[in-house]
Amino acid sequence: MRLRGRGVAPGLAVGRALVAVREARQVRYRLASSGVDRERQRLRAARDRTRRELEEISARVSRTVGSAQAAIFAAQLLMLDDPLLARRADELIRTERINADWALERAIQELHELFAREGDTWLRERVGDLSDVGGRLQRSLRPARDPLIDLVQELEAPIILIADELSPSVAAQLDWTRVQGLVSDVGGPTHHTVILVRSLGIPAVVGLGGATGLIAPGQLTAINGTTGEVVVDPPDVVVEQWRRQAEIAAAATLALGELRDQPAVTADGVRITLEANLEIADEVHRVLDAGAEGIGLYRSEFLLDGSGGQAISEETQFRTYRGLLDAMHPRPVTIRTFDADEVQGVPVMRGGGRRDVFGLRGIRAALHHDDGFRTQIRALLRAAEHGPLRILLPFVTSDEELRQVRGLIDEARRSLGTATPVPIGAMIEVPAAALTVDQLARHADFLSVGTNDLIQYTLAVDRTDERLAGHYEPTASAVLRLLRGIAVAARRLRCPLSVCGEMAGDPVLVGLLTGLGFRSFSMAPAAIPAVKQGLRYLDSRAAAVVARKALRASSADEVQALIAPLAAAMAAGHARLPAASG
Ligand code: PEP
Ligand code: MG
Repeated sequence: MRLRGRGVAPGLAVGRALVAVREARQVRYRLASSGVDRERQRLRAARDRTRRELEEISARVSRTVGSAQAAIFAAQLLMLDDPLLARRADELIRTERINADWALERAIQELHELFAREGDTWLRERVGDLSDVGGRLQRSLRPARDPLIDLVQELEAPIILIADELSPSVAAQLDWTRVQGLVSDVGGPTHHTVILVRSLGIPAVVGLGGATGLIAPGQLTAINGTTGEVVVDPPDVVVEQWRRQAEIAAAATLALGELRDQPAVTADGVRITLEANLEIADEVHRVLDAGAEGIGLYRSEFLLDGSGGQAISEETQFRTYRGLLDAMHPRPVTIRTFDADEVQGVPVMRGGGRRDVFGLRGIRAALHHDDGFRTQIRALLRAAEHGPLRILLPFVTSDEELRQVRGLIDEARRSLGTATPVPIGAMIEVPAAALTVDQLARHADFLSVGTNDLIQYTLAVDRTDERLAGHYEPTASAVLRLLRGIAVAARRLRCPLSVCGEMAGDPVLVGLLTGLGFRSFSMAPAAIPAVKQGLRYLDSRAAAVVARKALRASSADEVQALIAPLAAAMAAGHARLPAASG
């Protein structure tokens, strides 16, 4: 079976499918014979736990409300012992060798179908109770943390994870040495999970719609993150062909490695700064290997495990930030404060709904619930004693916010008794910020353009909604005009400026941005060599001419045609690489 989605992180991976649904809260896989007893035991333990819970609830309701109402839970207890529920799930584990969660899901489904088939109204009314007991049993199977995280350790690698949607906070805790490819029903190239896996070099294909329903757990699955193909039970010839392609790509990357210690300079001698984006602090070696001149964006919200921003201690944060500074020394490290949802401190889930996209997030959330923010600021200021740290504030919409945050930072500085200067920067990622750069630049020590959000908010296109992928246009003239305005204002006010959205990882778009006046970029570490190589064949004056025309273009397609010569010149650099041309 062949499926096609959108390749968003290049490379090839082959492995057994692990299917995770309901945002990875429900996982399905096939057991080795040695795993059967353990799964049966888990199911028994879950049933015991559920029984205790229901008995407690029943006793409490009987005391506080009355015995008639408590009878509901007595009936649920009977349901728990129904041979068609837990006992049926146990049978499925034994006979079909599937994990307890999946077996239970199947047993519940069979019972639902049975209830629906029976004409009996009384039975049909029990559907709510069945969902209630079933849900309680399912939760009891994995009471503590997200099931996927432990499970990945238990299964035979390599694993291809087939998920409906994988949240960034779960993704950040997975062992990606075991999971070697990601297929997701939803998402897009700027979804945080995708940004993370791409920077880890894990191939990913997204936007398949129903992959979780089409690929069975345990099936051998090959994915091509470059072309977006997913092949289930792939013939050897396909795997072989893809492997060859992957080898050629790897050889080209290796050849680019020669550039590692050379500065990025355009063909006409303009010096460009290339820094790296980072999501997981332990992966900082990738930044160093790529020859980045610093960390231009560390997305600190990946430190949060979804249990709340305040749950992560000042000490843990201090150690992480200091570790980054030590590893990068003497290069600068830009740490963005949590770009998190205000309630749970969960990293903003792009595509998770309008509340996330337009909610109380980033600097706004920090100013509303500033305890977690104060803790983070203290950790950052302490770390700054050990190296060149820069603090970057997300989702800024006004200079008033910057003033308030500066007040909080000064307060923390006084309480810590530190005088070390730390540059404070603002993300320019919403049109309001882009249009008032002249005001923001007076209160910020540097600016960093987040094109992922800037495009989303300018064009009113949810960046992770695959149905709108065709409308998400980095080269739309509204976007280019905002970018040009930012570059002009920042230069006039001599405010250091960089671009850290995904646009900065695309060599041709970097050419266009150079033409618009940008001189500093931060991107996934793996993108640095190709961008550096492309820049060596770019004439910045030609790029400026193209950019001027692009600003007047009437469609993104017209811009694509205008930048074609830049793309050709930059690609010529790649053609000259021995490995790529061979
Ligand atoms: C951006 O919006 O471009 C950006 C870099 O921030 P994030 O992708 O984390 O929203
Ligand atoms: Mg952003």
